[in-house]
Amino acid sequence: MEMEALVWWLNKLHFCLILSCLTVFHLAAAEYSNNQLKLEINLASSPSMSIKTNGSVQVCEADGLICRYLSGSFQVSLVNQDEITWYGILDKKLSWIDPETDSLAVTREYFTWENGKLKIKREYLQFLVQSFSSKSEAENYALSKGFSASKVMEIPVVNSTVQIITAHGDKYYMETPLRISSNKAIQINGESLGFEGEFILKSVKGRIVLNHFLGLEAYLAGVVQNEIGNNSPTEALKAQAVAARTHALSLLANNRHKADGFDLCSSTHCQVYKGKYLQNDALLKAIADCEDEALFISGQIADATYHSSCGGKTDASSAVWKGKPVAHLNGVSCWPEVDSLDLSLEPQARLWIDTRPSTNGMSSWERGALNWEKTITRSQLAKNAGLTTLKRIEINQRGRSGRIMSLKLIGDKTLSLDNEYKIRQVFGNLLSSFFYIKGFYRQNGNATSLVPRATLTIKGKGAGHGVGMCQVGALRLARDGMSYQYILQYYYPGTTISREWKDE
Ligand SMILES: [Zn+2]
Ligand SMILES: [Zn+2]
Repeated sequence: MEMEALVWWLNKLHFCLILSCLTVFHLAAAEYSNNQLKLEINLASSPSMSIKTNGSVQVCEADGLICRYLSGSFQVSLVNQDEITWYGILDKKLSWIDPETDSLAVTREYFTWENGKLKIKREYLQFLVQSFSSKSEAENYALSKGFSASKVMEIPVVNSTVQIITAHGDKYYMETPLRISSNKAIQINGESLGFEGEFILKSVKGRIVLNHFLGLEAYLAGVVQNEIGNNSPTEALKAQAVAARTHALSLLANNRHKADGFDLCSSTHCQVYKGKYLQNDALLKAIADCEDEALFISGQIADATYHSSCGGKTDASSAVWKGKPVAHLNGVSCWPEVDSLDLSLEPQARLWIDTRPSTNGMSSWERGALNWEKTITRSQLAKNAGLTTLKRIEINQRGRSGRIMSLKLIGDKTLSLDNEYKIRQVFGNLLSSFFYIKGFYRQNGNATSLVPRATLTIKGKGAGHGVGMCQVGALRLARDGMSYQYILQYYYPGTTISREWKDE
């Protein structure tokens, strides 16, 4: 470590210990305020960031003492970027700060589910005062002091200085985290989507992270339309809102983004969030009509995962993700016509794929997610599978939705796939693994095999993993006059709706 960097760092550390750097980290996550759960939803993360506005934005340091008003576009970048990733040795995890300590402490928020309430907790990670620019250096030091190497971790969030350059070339230096507010939409890194309201900008792991800071209900108003369509029937919008709210709460309780400096991301990894894009009055009213409602089972938040189209029956979460069986995610018949069929059997799966149920009233995306056909050349399939030649395809297992859960591609070597998502990818990003390949099949015991032609024609039904609520099915039930409570009970049997989960 260079001497100069060390001195800089120690000074900074010292500054943090004497003054209240710790309070700064209180911004670093969710809070309950005005009867609302407010969250940080990540919008962008990049080494430097451009922000554009048609109005003006207020940018303030965390203590609110230093604010700037900026208009047009400006560029934010990290100063002292090299010094931003540091490794420390975790001494203790505390639920309070030891005022006598002579070490660096970083606060981090996390969620727990206690007595039916979602609680926001804070933990203090107390590090030894020594910190290192490389992980191996830190590990050597830890071992020499009798700490295990597993105690070495990247110091999660470090306050850092950012440089802001305006379109006129003016330069400002500010300390993160920054609170940004804008009453007009801002655009980030040249993207066309706009977001307005409150934001938090911080430095995490050497990148600039920009989060939308807003209430759970406002977040849902930016999720539901991307998931099910903004012109859906009211009861389907409500069912989707309750499922998305429940899903968000269970993601929070799993703390999946705890170390990332935000609560939820805005991509499919969590749920797609696009701000006010495609919002309309009907959507906002539907969400308001089921405000705070979430699904529970045995006093716990339910897992309300959902997908586009089951294709006939929904599948068991334990078959798709190989986990423990979940009572309310065991699979149901979505189309009444399919109730008497066993789709895990090859001939019945093929029979249903070839059946064309009525698609009256369905939008084009619903029809596309119900029946589909695709082709792939044998050589492309072999290439996707990492094979030179492909001689035989063997289907070993289908789930109760008919999705292929286990399959072998046999050629110069054998590729075994036992995951519906990987199967979809190898066949060229299929909508679902509920498909069959046209051709002549041979049955050996439980396996069905096929010699592929030069071009394979794939016929399938459904889109997505097939677990939990089927959106196409929810839309159909809503058009048939069913309530959102009925729809939710249908796809998540045994769950109950409650609004009593906030811990205020
Ligand atoms: Zn995520
Ligand atoms: Zn369905």
